[in-house]
Amino acid sequence: MTSGATPFGDLLRIKPGSAPDLAAIDTSATPGFGGDKDAAGDRLKELRDELAAFQERLWAEKKQSLLIVLQALDAGGKDGVIRKVITAFNPQGTRVASFGVPTEEELRHDYLWRVHAATPGRGRIGVFDRSHYEDVLVVRVNELVPKSVWSKRYDEINAWEAYLAANGMRIVKFYLHISREEQRERLQKRLDNPEKHWKWSSGDLETRRKWRAYRTAYTDALARCSTKTAPWFVIPADLKWYRDLAVAEILVETAR
Ligand code: AMP
Ligand code: MG
Repeated sequence: MTSGATPFGDLLRIKPGSAPDLAAIDTSATPGFGGDKDAAGDRLKELRDELAAFQERLWAEKKQSLLIVLQALDAGGKDGVIRKVITAFNPQGTRVASFGVPTEEELRHDYLWRVHAATPGRGRIGVFDRSHYEDVLVVRVNELVPKSVWSKRYDEINAWEAYLAANGMRIVKFYLHISREEQRERLQKRLDNPEKHWKWSSGDLETRRKWRAYRTAYTDALARCSTKTAPWFVIPADLKWYRDLAVAEILVETAR
């Protein structure tokens, strides 16, 4: 960050108590960065070094942990962030946990059970590829539980995250925000490219049809669960190089 510039976090954080207007956010904008793709790549190299140094301190001190939550619609770029940013960390102290459709055993427990078990211990970094937020997103949109159940979860999640923070966990949450058009192009590429077929699932199409419902559900999750101790950041993510840069910048700002 050049001195005097507004931190990325301040530009992209959802202020506690405010609701983002997701439809009005330009998903191909590059807030806080005037350079091009090459310049972003150069900057990302520096940030990766800073992240590696931060992890060494975290590991040496064994006092705190870092939890990074990644949420996005299908093709939103979670995999890309893991490949381009999270790999800056030493895998020995890092764990990526992916949360899919709950297993039978997981369904016999409360919805926070499986995520709690995957939180990072002191000195470690945990990455959630999807998270407990699915329990107010896909679960809400597909009416997997009644409203009387999911509507209580925002407060429950805030209380749980505050408890983790009070016990030494830093929490940052990223929503990778892409446009409907960008999503269409990315899903089409998956279909066209045999090497990307594995990423394709018929569920992706269904999610697409429910675009508006997801936008409403995301808006509520971001508005109700962005807190001082566990903030949400909305990352314009149509431009992959900006997405990676912004996530890395915010992680470095968090690490300070
Ligand atoms: P992927 O991330 O592409 O492997 O897909 C994982 C799938 O699991 C997505 O379709 C999610 O919506 C779904 N999923 C994740 N968490 C839950 C949950 N708590 N209940 C139902 N479906 C979920
Ligand atoms: Mg998928």
